[in-house]
Amino acid sequence: MAEFSLTLSEDQLQVQKWVHDFAEQVIRPAAHEWDEREETPWPIIQEAAKIGLYSYEFVANAFADMTGLQLALALEEMAWGDAGIGLAIFGSTLAVAGIMANGTSEQAGEWIPQCFGTPDDLKLAAFAVSEADAGSDVSSLKTRAVYDEAKDEWVLNGAKTFITNGGLANLHVVVASVDPALGSRGQASFVVPDKTKGISQGQKFKKMGIRASHTAEVVLDDCRVPGRCLLGGKERLDDRLAKAEGGGHGGGQAAMATFEASRPFVAAQAVGVARAAYEFALDYAKERHQFGRAIIENQAIAFMLADMKTQIDASRLMVWRAAWMGRNRVPFAAAEGSQSKLLAGEVAVRVTDHAIQILGGAGYIRDNPVERWSRDAKIFTIFEGTSEIQRLVISRKISGVHIQ
Ligand SMILES: Cc1cc2nc3c(=O)[nH]c(=O)nc-3n(C[C@H](O)[C@H](O)[C@H](O)COP(=O)(O)OP(=O)(O)OC[C@H]3O[C@@H](n4cnc5c(N)ncnc54)[C@H](O)[C@@H]3O)c2cc1C
Repeated sequence: MAEFSLTLSEDQLQVQKWVHDFAEQVIRPAAHEWDEREETPWPIIQEAAKIGLYSYEFVANAFADMTGLQLALALEEMAWGDAGIGLAIFGSTLAVAGIMANGTSEQAGEWIPQCFGTPDDLKLAAFAVSEADAGSDVSSLKTRAVYDEAKDEWVLNGAKTFITNGGLANLHVVVASVDPALGSRGQASFVVPDKTKGISQGQKFKKMGIRASHTAEVVLDDCRVPGRCLLGGKERLDDRLAKAEGGGHGGGQAAMATFEASRPFVAAQAVGVARAAYEFALDYAKERHQFGRAIIENQAIAFMLADMKTQIDASRLMVWRAAWMGRNRVPFAAAEGSQSKLLAGEVAVRVTDHAIQILGGAGYIRDNPVERWSRDAKIFTIFEGTSEIQRLVISRKISGVHIQ
């Protein structure tokens, strides 16, 4: 087990600086344009691929870091550059997390490289759980997976909604119900490879924030995938279902295993957005003069900045703790992954709101990035489990009571 340390290693500092430089030189200058265009920023993803930031190797290296911090560091910097473009670049990683959480090592070796492609032939991936009637309540998914034994194929039918890279992705990881009577314990994850018939994009959504990230419905209409696309394999699924039918826990639940692993990394992005807004507001407060003095000389402004900085640092500490625990398989006894996501998401909303306040009218104008950061921040209290769902997870864990 790696020791938990707040002192970053040389390697980690290098990666942090490398991603920061990319965020500063490539992402930030492009952020406003892609927010307005509301399209996937292919040229920026390609730039990231050219330097190896959008690649299987980068993610593999990040996951190999025994402290668990490398991915969190990279994601904070990317989101500091721009959360929408950051998600356009790292959205595929959610599918990777789905494959890693539920797949065998052979499946990981086969499918994960296909989530990225190469700089000249970019590929995207998506992780599709949410449905119109199953958002927070992932146990009630209606998308069905039925096994066709004669052909050793799974047939997927249903519709997913609000999916990052949905329909645009080459590879989709789809969570579907194999046995609806068992709720989330009857679900499994399936890889839908590139060019599979029967999967298509439905409505593309126009959003409040993170608008450079593509969000859409995914429709599965008699979508057939080979048996080997069931993550974890048939034997493990049958074993799990048999245990669940017998009243046992039945082991991991397909979607939850992914969320547990990914929440600290979503939280890291929230920290990045909050930090961007805080830094901008701090500079502005020193420069802007009213009543013959810099506005920061007023406690009302200075104390707001003090709170912003304190809350951002607290969030990052929670993220690092959860990332380290997750990597070192320390049980989340008090739902520390959810704690990090809850705090960082709420802090991002508060801090970006304070930043607008500190800029006054200028904060409300689109020429300044703080209004965009405020729109972007809100998503972190919604996706990967809303703040209420994080509180539900934490309160159940600390109390042992099935809080409703
Ligand atoms: C931009 C964007 C990208 C997304 N990307 C993906 C993706 O890539 N893959 C994917 O699968 N999903 C994705 N989602 C979906 C996202 O995870 C869901 O929107 C989220 O989980 C909430 O579900 P919902 O929208 O159905 O809200 P609902 O579940 O309908 O919740 C509505 C409100 O009720 C509250 N609520 C619900 N149940 C309870 C309860 N038991 N106790 C207290 N309060 C409760 C919620 O907190 C919320 O405030 C994305 C969503 C967005 C907006």
